[in-house]
Amino acid sequence: MSTESQTFTEKYDLLGCIQCGRCTGGCPVTVRADLNVRRFVYDAYHEEKLEELARLAEIWDCTACHTCAVRCPKGLKPLEVLLGLRTMIIESGKVEPTVRDALQSVLLEGNPWEKSRAARSDWMEGLDVKIAEPGVPVENLFFVCCTIAYDPRVQSVAKNIVGLLNKAGIDYAFLDESETCCGSEVFTLGEEGLFEMLVEDNTELLNEYTAKRIVCLSPHCFTTYKTRYPDLKAEVIHYTQLLEELLREGKLVWKGDLQKKIVFHDPCYLGKQGDVYDEPRALLKSIPGVNLVEFERRRERSLCCEGGGGKMWVESESKKERLAETRIKDAKALEADIVAVACPFCVLTLEDAMKGLGYEEEMRVAEIMELLGEFVEA
Ligand code: SF4
Ligand code: SF4
Repeated sequence: MSTESQTFTEKYDLLGCIQCGRCTGGCPVTVRADLNVRRFVYDAYHEEKLEELARLAEIWDCTACHTCAVRCPKGLKPLEVLLGLRTMIIESGKVEPTVRDALQSVLLEGNPWEKSRAARSDWMEGLDVKIAEPGVPVENLFFVCCTIAYDPRVQSVAKNIVGLLNKAGIDYAFLDESETCCGSEVFTLGEEGLFEMLVEDNTELLNEYTAKRIVCLSPHCFTTYKTRYPDLKAEVIHYTQLLEELLREGKLVWKGDLQKKIVFHDPCYLGKQGDVYDEPRALLKSIPGVNLVEFERRRERSLCCEGGGGKMWVESESKKERLAETRIKDAKALEADIVAVACPFCVLTLEDAMKGLGYEEEMRVAEIMELLGEFVEA
């Protein structure tokens, strides 16, 4: 098996592995699925075994949380071996209908949610939003994300930040319906060809705007643009980094207070992959009255919510407790009123778990921007 001129072993640097097992030791899904990523790294070295490995159901249990990559002493990315095996399945065409439909929707409509491209900026209706124009310089070019653009549960993230930006008086602009999926989930589902096409198209689109920074609302877009788009001209940041900067400059003023105990859940794509830990906490602490507490498993040890890695389109076969449920139980043990997150997938998975556990009356899952929107000085 070879990919272009590289063999599987070369592509994933399998000979660099010392079989220390730190990857599997840190993998959060091992408590509920039969996934041993160290074993895959070992077995994939035997190229004649690749097709057999690709047929194992557990390759779809990986959430691409990157804990294994963070822990690997040799700097390998063990999860990418699993993604490479997924690519083999995608190329064989024997893929789950949900995955096939999501990928086809990205190809045809620019989003994995099977929504119309023309409706991508419907969330802007009634709002005073500045739209970017090619060639017109803008300091902060916003990239919304497919999930935030279309899912009514998390559209408030985009809507609220518009109000805040207008209030702070900073130079910004959003893309209209020309915004297209960044390909984060396409990459982790293993559709390499489609991902390469998105990288080419999005690089061309985003470079048309003379932007100083691309500000992503979702950590998935943030990490993808930052790490997998080598030819982007603008710096890529997450919105919490921009807001923390505005906070330091005294450009954000909150009205009222929030006498609540809040615990922040570090999204894998923001923390472990993006190295952004302090800014979301600084924003939460800035709201008067907030008592910010911490999970025991936090920052680079944060528990995954299982929303990434294409898992929104792949049902887990495991009947064991979902990691999102474990996380909500941890929050309950801390007596937190609010579980704050900074990722649309974390909102959806954790809120679903909270409702499933029947904690709706006493607890709330909220995106930071959802909370801040309630406190912008009018
Ligand atoms: S942590 Fe890295 S070196 Fe250790 S077994 Fe896993 S892939 Fe190999
Ligand atoms: S990315 Fe996360 S879920 Fe996937 S193998 Fe690595 S540690 Fe496990």
